[in-house]
Amino acid sequence: MGDSIYEINTDRCTECIGHYETPTCQKVCPIPNTIIKDPAHTENEEQLWDKFVQLHHADKL
Ligand code: SF4
Repeated sequence: MGDSIYEINTDRCTECIGHYETPTCQKVCPIPNTIIKDPAHTENEEQLWDKFVQLHHADKL
């Protein structure tokens, strides 16, 4: 929970890279345009892949 709304932890969100083709939370949310990207936390595909590896495969590095 953020100050007034629920917020996605950018340290743990990979935009679903490594798991799905598109961000699953956006895909399944019944209310359109509710889950939006934070322009203050933009990451390119390489950065998202690096985060995926750190989060899910750090024990194999
Ligand atoms: S479902 Fe995917 S895009 Fe949504 S918060 Fe989780 S990792 Fe990020």
